[in-house]
Amino acid sequence: MIIQDLTMTEFEAGLKKTRTVLIPFGSTEEHGPHLPLATDTLQAHRVCRLLADRRPVFVAPPIHYGVCRSTGGHPGTIGITTATLRALAIDIVVSLYRQGLRNFVLLTGHAGVTHTSTLIDAGDELLERFVDARIAVLTEFMLASKAGREFIETEDDAHAGEIETSRIMHSHPDLVRGSAPAEYPNFPVGILVRDKRRYWPNGVWGDPAKASAAKGEKIEAAVVAALARLVDELERGEAG
Ligand SMILES: [Zn+2]
Repeated sequence: MIIQDLTMTEFEAGLKKTRTVLIPFGSTEEHGPHLPLATDTLQAHRVCRLLADRRPVFVAPPIHYGVCRSTGGHPGTIGITTATLRALAIDIVVSLYRQGLRNFVLLTGHAGVTHTSTLIDAGDELLERFVDARIAVLTEFMLASKAGREFIETEDDAHAGEIETSRIMHSHPDLVRGSAPAEYPNFPVGILVRDKRRYWPNGVWGDPAKASAAKGEKIEAAVVAALARLVDELERGEAG
């Protein structure tokens, strides 16, 4: 049940089938010269929608903005601060809780460390606030790299590389502009830098040449399966 497409009446009827909602978080962020800025949002939203085809769960409208530190200076990235993301995540969950939802999956397609930590921080506060809520915070990338371990060839593939290029080649082939050279950022250890692009010119972390639509299809299916298992566990209510 895709919330943005439902009517008031359909939403109310949906609550009789499930109290679970998936909230896809994404970003508007450079993904190299070959992938769209919405890559993270597209991936997270898509796996949520695919799961909603298979079982009764609500899918909230995706959040198109995230905290982007290392790509903040690259063309096209539109970032928000941790304070904004934290407030946004809390406000959305509080509102959905008031609507009757109790199981919340905050699935982020953007896997930046600061971004993800902020969502975990928001989730912890919500756990304290609502004693009968169950909350999961996880990155799409975590599921994809684990699920695709056998067939992903690049060892250190993190951003716009083999995994993400494969995913978009499969799900949105019309949005892929060819490929890009392999690249790994070279940030100084521990020292914060102003001009991040100097250390990461093309905004790729991994090897897009190893990507294929077939791999993307396999990774996507594995992510949906892993997400289904997580929702099962959350709904059983034994964890937490
Ligand atoms: Zn990404």
